[in-house]
Amino acid sequence: MIPFDFSYHRPDSVAEAVASYRRLERAGLEPVYYGGGTEIITLARQGELRTGAVIDLKGVPECRALMCRDGSVLLGAGLTLAEVGERGGWAPLAEAVGRIADHTSRCRITLGGNLAGQLPYREAVLPLLLVDTVAVVAGDGGLRRIRLADVFRGSLRLAPGTFLAQLEVPLDEADGPHFASKRTRLDWVDYPLLTLVGVRAGGRVRMAFSGLCGYPFRDPAMERDLQAGRIEDAIGHIPGPVVDDLHGSADYRRHVLAGALHDALEVLRA
Ligand SMILES: Cc1cc2nc3c(=O)[nH]c(=O)nc-3n(C[C@H](O)[C@H](O)[C@H](O)COP(=O)(O)OP(=O)(O)OC[C@H]3O[C@@H](n4cnc5c(N)ncnc54)[C@H](O)[C@@H]3O)c2cc1C
Repeated sequence: MIPFDFSYHRPDSVAEAVASYRRLERAGLEPVYYGGGTEIITLARQGELRTGAVIDLKGVPECRALMCRDGSVLLGAGLTLAEVGERGGWAPLAEAVGRIADHTSRCRITLGGNLAGQLPYREAVLPLLLVDTVAVVAGDGGLRRIRLADVFRGSLRLAPGTFLAQLEVPLDEADGPHFASKRTRLDWVDYPLLTLVGVRAGGRVRMAFSGLCGYPFRDPAMERDLQAGRIEDAIGHIPGPVVDDLHGSADYRRHVLAGALHDALEVLRA
């Protein structure tokens, strides 16, 4: 049970969504944008989130867009992970989102919610970091196009009242083979010990990781080592402390990483 009352708003345009946020904010209701609601509802039930109003983005047409144009795919942030996996048109993305949660949950979790959520994994972002993805951000002035790498640094950093409307993914940039692997402790459906997604683009190896540090990342020093096949050096360049928890020790995660990098390079450097 959610132990507080809140109002539900379902705007049908970007302008109405942002205006609703500002109006509810002025009324002191501390509104939150709502994608699939899986995290919002869980945190509210646990008493870790309190709000007087939720603004459901799924009625905003831009958030439900899914189209290909000029070698890119445009993905609305309100698409579910199941929709992105089945109709998103890019194998690395389909494979990354296809291993998040179970199918029933993927039919609710949205792309925007996965990137903006509090859980540290945010696995859907991994393939998006491998190409020059553009984030289309909605705010008081309408829609603004920003490089994803400029607003996603471990987590999605948007100004209060703004939201992620769409992602433009240049599919033609990754012109070589790809590799995706998620290693979990026991079950097929679980949080990652390590998720690795890699592509070869313009003859160069690119890789992004989740589960290894407390945030998803792509690192240029690791990629230089991997391009040269230097797996031990790449592991030495992990850009932050390796997670050490009940799911797996830091040493075990490095061991899992070494195996996954070996498998990835066999595909990406072939
Ligand atoms: C059973 C289960 C297993 C899971 N396993 C994994 C896993 O293995 N790996 C993994 O990465 N994740 C996993 N998750 C986490 C899951 O991806 C989160 O629940 C998800 O991040 C929340 O998505 P949502 O659409 O339900 O977001 P919501 O609950 O609606 O929102 C979450 C947060 O994002 C914000 N938000 C939502 N949409 C937008 C937007 N368009 N722009 C800006 N902010 C927005 C909200 O304000 C809120 O702060 C799992 C979840 C479940 C339920």
